[in-house]
Amino acid sequence: MRNYDIPALRKQDIAHHLPAQANYKLIQDLGGSRIITRAEGSTIWDGEGHAILDGMAGLWCVDVGYGREELAKVAYEQMLELPYYNSFFRTATVPAVELATKIAGLLGGELQHVFFNSSGSESNDTVFRLVRHYWTLKGKPERQVFISRRNAYHGSTVAGASLGGMAFMHAQGGLPIPGIEHVMQPYQFGEGFGEDAEAFGQRAADEIEARILSVGPDKVAAFIGEPVQGAGGVIIPPPGYWARVEAICRKYGILLVSDEVITGFGRLGKWFGFQRFGYTPDIVSMAKGLSSGYLPISATGVSHEIVETLRASNDDFVHGYTYSGHPVAAAVALRNLEIIEREKLVDRVAGDIGPHFARALKSLDDHPLVGETRSCGLLGAVEIVSAKGTNQRFTGKEGAAGPVVRDACIAGGLMVRAIRDTIVMCPPFVITHDEVDRMIAIIRAALDESAAVLA
Ligand code: PLP
Repeated sequence: MRNYDIPALRKQDIAHHLPAQANYKLIQDLGGSRIITRAEGSTIWDGEGHAILDGMAGLWCVDVGYGREELAKVAYEQMLELPYYNSFFRTATVPAVELATKIAGLLGGELQHVFFNSSGSESNDTVFRLVRHYWTLKGKPERQVFISRRNAYHGSTVAGASLGGMAFMHAQGGLPIPGIEHVMQPYQFGEGFGEDAEAFGQRAADEIEARILSVGPDKVAAFIGEPVQGAGGVIIPPPGYWARVEAICRKYGILLVSDEVITGFGRLGKWFGFQRFGYTPDIVSMAKGLSSGYLPISATGVSHEIVETLRASNDDFVHGYTYSGHPVAAAVALRNLEIIEREKLVDRVAGDIGPHFARALKSLDDHPLVGETRSCGLLGAVEIVSAKGTNQRFTGKEGAAGPVVRDACIAGGLMVRAIRDTIVMCPPFVITHDEVDRMIAIIRAALDESAAVLA
């Protein structure tokens, strides 16, 4: 364990470091960011020595848990053999080819081709350019419009944030860029409270068809959606929603893009969310769990038909990144997938720790502040309300209670995230039963404490 001068580092953080998605004034007022210095299994430690159970797997990514020595070794060995080479010069590296083959096997069906990037946002930029180029090659250049959902999260780059449906992100930088249409999300607690679940799911999907018809079916290129919206608040679509979305896409010949940046590689108890919900996308965005966050890498899975269209053009797809298929990141991702397979972690999420998590979370349903708990695999959410049995929020304004409960959880030794008034969780696949029970006990104590503050 190394010793750090934490007060000095926090001062430097304020002076020089700009953290992501942050209020810089608030961080300054707080005396700098909390400096995280080490981690093991499902626990992180800050520089002041606090142990915090990581209910968010970092940022929805550290699926195999922290402290995997074999991932460090694989990176070290690959760096010595070949630390870098690109794929621009009709060249490829061994780890990139092997990882593409591995991912294609997991995706199955027609999804047999993989384009590499370094982040989920970059993957969705790849989607954006690939889809529009594809339709041009198909002789339908007027098919340019993407349909997405309000409150979806598809990244922070210009295309990613535009495809996403976060109004507060659009408000900065003049987004979204043209050609993106946002429709309602399948968020029953927020937008269909008390409605029959299936009827609500159909209503949400029907908005997609209505928008296709108003834009003009021959102008729509693709629909993009997360199987379960993560950053929007762990929004689990009602039964029948995805089947209807797929049918609509097929009816109008629109490409279906599954953004599996969070849900990919086992988070929902299947390798991919589209397998869990039973639909077949044309393109899949993947990141996070691909390397369990040990190194930055993302992948865009592409159908054979799309690649055959690119091949038929006999022209370059003029898109790519310096770090596309980075050999060290690819080698680490490959070993990470091996760990998930060897330790049967997808089965563990589906049949063991996922159901335990679901049961433990449900036990919070009796708390006066809890409007709903929900989970899918190892994604979970707690809705905080001011009046039991309703979806009313404290002070009548969304977002007042979530941060209070979140801060109480963190003070109690559990890292969770507040999305407005929804507490979300995404623990590592290796979290133990006892740790899940501890998570829930901390949340209950935080809710009790917050009830007094919010009253
Ligand atoms: N897509 C989804 C569904 C995500 O959840 C995220 C990040 O949370 C992204 C895209 C963007 O990924 P990144 O932050 O790696 O750019």
